[in-house]
Amino acid sequence: MHPASFTRVAAAELTLPPAVADAFPPTRAAALARLVAVDAAAYARTRNHLRGAVTRLSPYLTHGLLSVPEVLAAVGPDAGKLAQELAWREFFRLAHDREGAAILRDRFGPQPRLALDAGPRRLPGALVAGATGIEALDAAVRALVDTGYVHNHARMWLASVACHVAGADWRAGAAWFQFHLLDGDLASNALSWQWVAGSGSAKPYVADQANLNRFAGTAQRGTFLDRPRDDLLTGAVPDALRATVELELPSVVPDLPAPTFDPVRPLLAYHPWGLDPAWRADEDAERWLLLEPAFFARHPWSPARLAWLLAAARQVPGLRVGVGDAREVLAPRAADAAAGRAAPLVHRAHPAVAHWPGPRDPAPTAFAHRWTATAAPRSFSAFWSRVAPRDR
Ligand SMILES: Cc1cc2nc3c(=O)[nH]c(=O)nc-3n(C[C@H](O)[C@H](O)[C@H](O)COP(=O)(O)OP(=O)(O)OC[C@H]3O[C@@H](n4cnc5c(N)ncnc54)[C@H](O)[C@@H]3O)c2cc1C
Repeated sequence: MHPASFTRVAAAELTLPPAVADAFPPTRAAALARLVAVDAAAYARTRNHLRGAVTRLSPYLTHGLLSVPEVLAAVGPDAGKLAQELAWREFFRLAHDREGAAILRDRFGPQPRLALDAGPRRLPGALVAGATGIEALDAAVRALVDTGYVHNHARMWLASVACHVAGADWRAGAAWFQFHLLDGDLASNALSWQWVAGSGSAKPYVADQANLNRFAGTAQRGTFLDRPRDDLLTGAVPDALRATVELELPSVVPDLPAPTFDPVRPLLAYHPWGLDPAWRADEDAERWLLLEPAFFARHPWSPARLAWLLAAARQVPGLRVGVGDAREVLAPRAADAAAGRAAPLVHRAHPAVAHWPGPRDPAPTAFAHRWTATAAPRSFSAFWSRVAPRDR
């Protein structure tokens, strides 16, 4: 088990590595520039290739600097495959909304293959070090650590190797990704890992060397992935992946004081997934981004990711940042507002802050609001058949 502890670090020490800032400038302007460049037809044709026309919008979408409806409005009616991929995001989000922390356990059933030493923070050492000898995997790990971004297909390869070929626990892979990815999103991450790990699937996804070569543009042969599918799924764990390590994912939180509120002014409470500069932009209100240590203790983020978040928070004019537990910091303020002793407070809905008190505005969605059933959809196809644009 891992103690839910964290270390406070001076905010000034959380500096944004240049490689991260170059790859994903933490601004809305950068998101909009990327949006203008989206080519939906090229995306549909090439998205599976590492050099394909993917959007690289995910860090902005995860943190609310851009929304799915905005992307679809900009791309227009021919979004096609891109619309479907964006719907995956909302499908996962809906499951998180309806099922809460249960999505962080085996939502689809137990993982079919688990090595004897598997654990929620144990992965093959060579994989984590980017030293498997398989070029496409090792490059993906370098990208993960250096830039906080990995192409979707490479994420699938890393998860397939970790869970199927090495029998690692998907939760370890999800924690590893969540630590580094700038777009790390509890729902998309945990549920994608479970999907690749083959939980509840009769025909799990598994990648072999030919698949990597085709979509990464490499030409390797004779690697431990150059084996038949059944062998990859059930054969011996390759020597290169046998030695496992306990992941070191220290939890840090900026050393900032808890927010203090002016009861006379309305309060807009922000969380890391709702940095939308347009949200109630014309209102005269206090704006506070609240970072909860308990969240980061359970789901550690790298210092680079936290630095990115703090930089992105500057996109919301007047937004101040404080650290504290919502139940201690926001609850008394919400009680005062409800009793008429203080001006109103409001936050934007997100499943990671379902415990926040007080009224909430709905988050923008393009598809999820069309799902009216009480339970979350069990499968993406059930969701998509109900919410796809052709049904409108
Ligand atoms: C093991 C694994 C872990 C993942 N973890 C995350 C995560 O923590 N956060 C996250 O946002 N995505 C996650 N994804 C989904 C997907 O890989 C990323 O959304 C995508 O690679 C982001 O890059 P992009 O913006 O260039 O995507 P594009 O291919 O350009 O897609 C456009 C947008 O559609 C959405 N999208 C695309 N593919 C998916 C997908 N399979 N599932 C959900 N949404 C999708 C994203 O919002 C993305 O920004 C994960 C996938 C896997 C296989």
